[in-house]
Amino acid sequence: MNQEKGNISIHTQNIFPIIKKWLYSDRDIFVRELISNGCDAVNKLKRLSSIGEAKVSDDTKYSVKVKVNKDKKTIEFIDNGIGMTDEEVKKYINQVAFSGAEDFIAKYQDKMDESNQIIGHFGLGFYSAFMVSDSVEINTLSYKEGSEPVKWICSGGTEYEMSASDKTERGTTIVLHLNEESTEFADEYKLREIIKKHCAFLPTEIYLENENAKAKDKDENKEDDKPLNDIHPLWMKSPSECTEEEYKEFYKKVFHDFKDPLFWIHLNVDYPFNLKGILYFPKLDHELNTIEGQIKLFNNQVFVADNIKEVIPEFLMLLKGVIDCADLPLNVSRSFLQNDRNVAKISKHISKKVADKLTELYKKERETYNNFWNDINMFIKYGCMREDDFYDKVKDIIIFKNTNGNYVTLKEYLEANKEKHENKVFYVDDEKQQAQYIRMFKENGLEAIILNSKIDSHFINFLEMKENGVKFNRIDSDISDTLKDKDSDNENKEEIEEETKTLEGLFKNILSNDKVKVNVESLKSEDIPAVILLSEESRRMQQMNSMFQGMDTSNMFQNDETLVLNRKNNLVKAILSKSSDESKKEDIKLIGEHIYDLAMMSHKQLDGEAMAKFISRSNKILTKLI
Ligand code: ADP
Ligand code: MG
Repeated sequence: MNQEKGNISIHTQNIFPIIKKWLYSDRDIFVRELISNGCDAVNKLKRLSSIGEAKVSDDTKYSVKVKVNKDKKTIEFIDNGIGMTDEEVKKYINQVAFSGAEDFIAKYQDKMDESNQIIGHFGLGFYSAFMVSDSVEINTLSYKEGSEPVKWICSGGTEYEMSASDKTERGTTIVLHLNEESTEFADEYKLREIIKKHCAFLPTEIYLENENAKAKDKDENKEDDKPLNDIHPLWMKSPSECTEEEYKEFYKKVFHDFKDPLFWIHLNVDYPFNLKGILYFPKLDHELNTIEGQIKLFNNQVFVADNIKEVIPEFLMLLKGVIDCADLPLNVSRSFLQNDRNVAKISKHISKKVADKLTELYKKERETYNNFWNDINMFIKYGCMREDDFYDKVKDIIIFKNTNGNYVTLKEYLEANKEKHENKVFYVDDEKQQAQYIRMFKENGLEAIILNSKIDSHFINFLEMKENGVKFNRIDSDISDTLKDKDSDNENKEEIEEETKTLEGLFKNILSNDKVKVNVESLKSEDIPAVILLSEESRRMQQMNSMFQGMDTSNMFQNDETLVLNRKNNLVKAILSKSSDESKKEDIKLIGEHIYDLAMMSHKQLDGEAMAKFISRSNKILTKLI
């Protein structure tokens, strides 16, 4: 066969139903498309008039009006923009996917300014009208002098009728005759919701009018004095022009939050892509509440979708904010976004901006930063674990509250405690439960950091991986040398060895539990008879097990707990001195068990059985006192 080249042709009869059905997943999108066409028409006219190519009277009040009529099952979209000549209707409407917006931009590219962005792009938006209509009507009069008004009707097939129209005012009216399945859209309240969702920030004032209500009661319908949208959303302004009050007000209005946000980041990028937006760090209610952020994505002020995780780094989904990016497609398809190089760049850029802002706060307003820490540490820690780049940027501004109530960085903590325990970080994850250990630490001039967010156990693992050699130990995992009274240990070695042996044997006997190890030390805090230690490794193992099996397995792995008796404590001394007195045997057993339980209680909650025993033993001891 001879070689041949050509263009693949598409038959509209076949493709049209597909467009109608599959173009958009949400049927209410037609509202957005038709209103944004009206906004485009207005913006085009504004631009032409500003460069002297169109004559528009100075007092023109531009708008897009939406009129709904339940009885007639119609919705009208009326704009006073550029309108279309019959040639233009033929070109832009009769040819599917021939976008007039692209034509316009190509022609006036160099005269574009930011405030007049054109939304249209693919030349398909208008056809979304057919998703909900039996027939669609256009009445339009172009701004061009001497042009004739045109009427265009199409009843869903690929045939249309064009004729002269009686329209006298410049602009375009689109009339939808809703189909049976779509009459729900002829409801004023429903329509209002849809407009507010998709068009809340479109650049031309939008009014909604209910024709039925109007006919019944003309005076009451004052609502249409006020546009449904905010044509100057805050993110479009330059950051230097926005006041703190405006940021807060915008936040409360858009995210329906009654609390002020902590702080915010105003994004304003022209190169290498166009991006504007405001990211807010919300104040958390309560740590246990799952934080639910909301990032609204816009394209030239048209709402696209909430929480598109391809565009915004996942960890920032905990924030609330708006992102407006004209370089992203209006109709977001996830698979498209995943492969779009711009998207990856945008996401990177956003997380860089967040890191910059945090660093600035840390450097310039350290006090404020400390105060925010409780609310923002989750974002930051989560971000670090999700993104290496982010971690590298913020690692030096991660702070920890310590047991003295101060905030320190990891570096600062390690430096301050170098002499006492090198590369070891002691932490508390439950200030109440571990109060006894904290007291002991404080008495001996030691500090631990407080890590009590849900995310912290993961974050510790992460930090240990990142920061070579650094080990995190819970405050009850080990006895630091600083806590021990070494001088007294050096006094009489032999005697001490003897005592140790006696006490160990005695307690092993009393507790009759092979699993508990017994140690004897000289602790500087003399009023503490004993503490329980559980090695960090064992505790993490237990924690992991309970996480996987969803149950508390701490009692299954008791073998690693150590009871450390304090030789310097009077009660322990007394037991020691009476250890060979047969008549005291029963009392010593009671006291020994009690010492163990008390130490245990400072370490973790007693289980039911142990608690019952503890109470009954307490009563026994009290009875003996009287
Ligand atoms: P797009 O907006 O992506 O260009 P549409 O299918 O929404 O595609 O519209 C096709 C074209 O029809 C537009 O580009 C514009 O030239 C023209 N058009 C649609 N609606 C209007 C309108 N209300 N006023 C003037 N022109 C319009
Ligand atoms: Mg359009």
